This record gives sequence, C-alpha cells and structure tokens, in this order.
Amino acid sequence: MRIPHAVFRRQGVVFILFFVFEFYIPLCLHARYSLKYRNISGRMPGVKVIAIANQKGGVGKTTTAVNLSAALAARGKRVLLIDMDSQANASTMLGVEVESDASLYPALIGEALLEDLIRPTRRRNLSIIPAHVDLSGVEVELTQNGSHLNCMYDAMAGLRQTQYFDYVFLDTPPSLGVLMTSALCACDEVITPMQCEFLSLEGLSKILFVMDQIREHGVNSRLKHEGIIMTMYNNTKLANEVIRQVQQELPDKLYKNYIPRSVRVAESPSFGRTIMEHDRFGAASMAYQAVAREFITRHRS
Ligand code: ATP
Ligand code: MG
Repeated sequence: MRIPHAVFRRQGVVFILFFVFEFYIPLCLHARYSLKYRNISGRMPGVKVIAIANQKGGVGKTTTAVNLSAALAARGKRVLLIDMDSQANASTMLGVEVESDASLYPALIGEALLEDLIRPTRRRNLSIIPAHVDLSGVEVELTQNGSHLNCMYDAMAGLRQTQYFDYVFLDTPPSLGVLMTSALCACDEVITPMQCEFLSLEGLSKILFVMDQIREHGVNSRLKHEGIIMTMYNNTKLANEVIRQVQQELPDKLYKNYIPRSVRVAESPSFGRTIMEHDRFGAASMAYQAVAREFITRHRS
C-alpha cells in the first residue's frame, strides 16, 4: 500500500514540533541558566531563603552572612547571598565591585529581574547580588507607593521557581526600616547573630516581637526563627551569663558553636577574603565551619 506524501509531511511536522517543545526549548533554557549562574550545575528542589537579621548594629550580621554562605558553598551547597544593606559590606567582603546598575535596587522597584542581577564570586557554588549606596533611596520610593512590604517577596518569585540554589541568604541592614521588613516578609527563616552582651538580649526580644507581628498579621505566616548564633565570644563571665540566659529562654534556638572574637575576622574584609580564605585553620574559621555543619544538620531534621 502506498502512503501519500501528505501523511509523511504531517508526521514530519509533528515530529519537529515534538522535538522543539520536548527537547530543544528545555535544553536552551537549561543552558541559559547554567551560563548565567556560571558556578552552578543541575537542579535541586526546595530553595530556602534565610534572613540574617538583628536590628542592632555591629553584631556580626554581615560577617556571619558572608562566612556562613562561604562555608556552606565549600561543602557543596549552592548559595546565593543577597546584600540588602546600602553599606554594601557583604559585597566588599567578598571582593565584588559595587556598581549602581548591578545592585538590588532596580529589582525592588520592579525595573529589573532579580535573576539578571546575580553575579558569580571567585568561590565555587557562591553567587551574590551586590548592594550599592543607592539602596538607601529605595526606602523613600517604596514607602511612597505603598509596596514596601512585598517588594522583596515579589522580586524573588522568579528565583524561587528556578530553584537553582539550595540556600539564599539575605544580609539585612541594622534598622527595622523598609529593607529589613521586606526581607522578613520574603524569607522562610531568620537567623539572629548576637553579641554576648546584655543589651543584645533587649535587641533579641525586639526582633522576635517584630517577627510575631509579621506572622500574626498574615504578611508571612510561614516565618520561622531558625536560630541564634553568638558572635565575638570571649569567654568572660558576662558573655557566659548572656549565653546562659539565651539557653534558658530559647534552648532549641541557640547554635552550639559560638564565633570567637578574633582580630583575623576583623581584618579579613580589607583583603576581600572570607575568614576561611584568610586564616583557614584559625579558631574563627573553624567556628564558622562548625556552624555551617550545624546548620546543615538542623536543616536535615
Ligand atoms: P551593621 O549593623 O553595621 O550591618 P553587622 O551587624 O553586619 O553591622 P559586621 O559588619 O559583621 O556587623 O561586624 C561589625 C564589626 O565587627 C566589623 O568590623 C567586623 O569585622 C567585626 N567583627 C565581626 N565579627 C567579629 C569577630 N568574630 N571577631 C572580631 N571582630 C568581628
Ligand atoms: Mg552588616
């Protein structure tokens, strides 16, 4: 029996369409994303967004965000660090040049896609969205148009769908302003770095109160306080007393490993290095690596 040419042609068209939609387009999309996130390969479900937050200034938020991100990346986790502080300290610490057109700002006001602002760092598995001093202007702009609570959540919608990262860390500024609130509304969990001082206890209760408010008003009902990392620990009576109080009040929240006060940590940003690069076998480097292991264990259970 002879099959008419028209049938072959139709089958050919169907085959080409099937090939284009099933293989060609998905492959192109995959290649595009792999190129964009240069140091990332494969897909993994379930990106977790974690804000490193404490409205108190100078408690080690940025140092923790940078070093915990780097320690997790070194252990094979795919990490994105978003610098949400106009001081741009996290960007500087990772040795990333800060330019206004590549900062978070346009994504927050809906003029750019967050995914397009991701930049690789020189570390495997670690990418960053840098900040710029222009971020300070976003507070006024967003409050005026009333979209400040959800701006970060909305900006991250695409990123959550791509699921190219295991963890996204948000380094937040030291105030309960628009950027900090929008970070708390956009994240799944909060880690609070805390100095071993009495005033820090007051700061801790304030951030817990704000988180309660955010949950209660339904702005982010899934918000979880993941834990507290003690920073700049120096084994004094005062430091141990503060830790004892935190342990008593919030026993399951306190990370078992404390970050010691170390001049090597304080000097590492001036070299654009993480503490693991600057003083690999020092006490602070070991402590951040131990905190990263603890973080992974806590997220397994
Ligand atoms: P801000 O609220 O201004 O954003 P922050 O909470 O992010 O501050 P960092 O910038 O991380 O705090 O740290 C404040 C200062 O303390 C920095 O100079 C940093 O180098 C130093 N520092 C942080 N951790 C340690 C440590 N473990 N030992 C010694 N110095 C530290
Ligand atoms: Mg900071």
